[in-house]
Amino acid sequence: MKILVINCGSSSLKYRLLDMETGTAPASGMVERIGEDVGFITHKALCDGERKFKEDHPIPDHDVALRFAVDHLTHPDHGAVAHVSEIDAVGHRVVQGGETFKAPAVIDKDVIEAIRENIPLAPLHNPANLTGIEVALELFPKCPQVAVFDTEFHQTMPSRAYMYALPYELYEELRLRRYGFHGTSHRYVAKAAARLLGKPLEETRLITVHLGNGSSITAVDGGRCVDTSMGLTPLAGLMMGTRCGDIDPAIHAFLAENRNMGIAEIDDMLNKQSGLKGICGMNDMRDIHDARNDGDAKAQLAFEMFAYQVKKYIGAYLAVLGGADAVVFTAGIGENDDFVRETACSGLEQLGIIIDQSANQGRKSEACSVHRPESPVQVWVVPTDEELEIALASRAALG
Ligand code: ADP
Repeated sequence: MKILVINCGSSSLKYRLLDMETGTAPASGMVERIGEDVGFITHKALCDGERKFKEDHPIPDHDVALRFAVDHLTHPDHGAVAHVSEIDAVGHRVVQGGETFKAPAVIDKDVIEAIRENIPLAPLHNPANLTGIEVALELFPKCPQVAVFDTEFHQTMPSRAYMYALPYELYEELRLRRYGFHGTSHRYVAKAAARLLGKPLEETRLITVHLGNGSSITAVDGGRCVDTSMGLTPLAGLMMGTRCGDIDPAIHAFLAENRNMGIAEIDDMLNKQSGLKGICGMNDMRDIHDARNDGDAKAQLAFEMFAYQVKKYIGAYLAVLGGADAVVFTAGIGENDDFVRETACSGLEQLGIIIDQSANQGRKSEACSVHRPESPVQVWVVPTDEELEIALASRAALG
């Protein structure tokens, strides 16, 4: 079975064709800078070895972006398939499923309408996801298509975890509540960690720590999310590359009064000019380490704040779960940054987390444990694979 996974971001489109029998990806790629004067596509094809292509094009929208991707996938010279009919299913990442979607959904008119109804909850992402779906339905008319939501894994949270202490009618009228994101990643690494622990997922208590450009932490009890750090939007929780994470909600009013800033301006600042970048001007952890090592005090502060916040969430979720079998690090920083892992776990020995400094050292491209043998709570690094999880979920949804 060949499944094409399509992931439309607000200004990018990632795709990967997966052969579920062989476990290979015959083709993958990314279209970036959609909507700018010049965008570009990078395409990787596995034919006669690995071949890579990079082309600049004006790419006004996701419609054009997906057509470029499909041109490469079916290219007479390096295409992974001769015709679109060789693709058996398409899996779409959709950011916000609201309370409507608690599982992946096979796409039909009602599903499309429900995704549209959830646009107010994700105004930047759901419209791009819908374009991806609509163009894919046109390009692959005979192919079943599945929507896999970033939020669905978190729909098992109890109301005490997902409600905000705001007037209740805001929840009733607007469905204003915590949703959580990165659900496919948290689910993927939770399942992988249970296998690595040699326990049924239903019997595990896990803290999954997804640290990338966007970061979130989830408490997973028996394979079900019981709490997560992101909220109504992906701005909440940990500080991130450019997002502020949790801040005092009175800061909006304070800035309006003392800096005469409007809501849109504040929102833009909290999303794009804050987080690691806001503190030290850099949002890539590799640059921050270089600067720290050169004595940059703001870079040092940004690093310390980040690791401290990760530690606080791990502590909080140990309390939520009443202990844990494992803490599982994943994504760009979680997989590659041993110093973040070490600093976030240091001082948690009394809570049962004892990291092994030498096992923890270095970048991890494969799953491995990084705790000491006597550590009651295990610590693992598990590389995430959101596209594979979307393909697996799509296959399962199609029976
Ligand atoms: P996204 O949220 O965009 O999917 P990723 O999970 O790919 O992000 O993570 C990207 C981030 O991972 C980069 O911004 C960088 O901070 C971090 N990163 C990547 N490689 C390393 C590394 N070797 N050491 C430290 N941090 C890294």
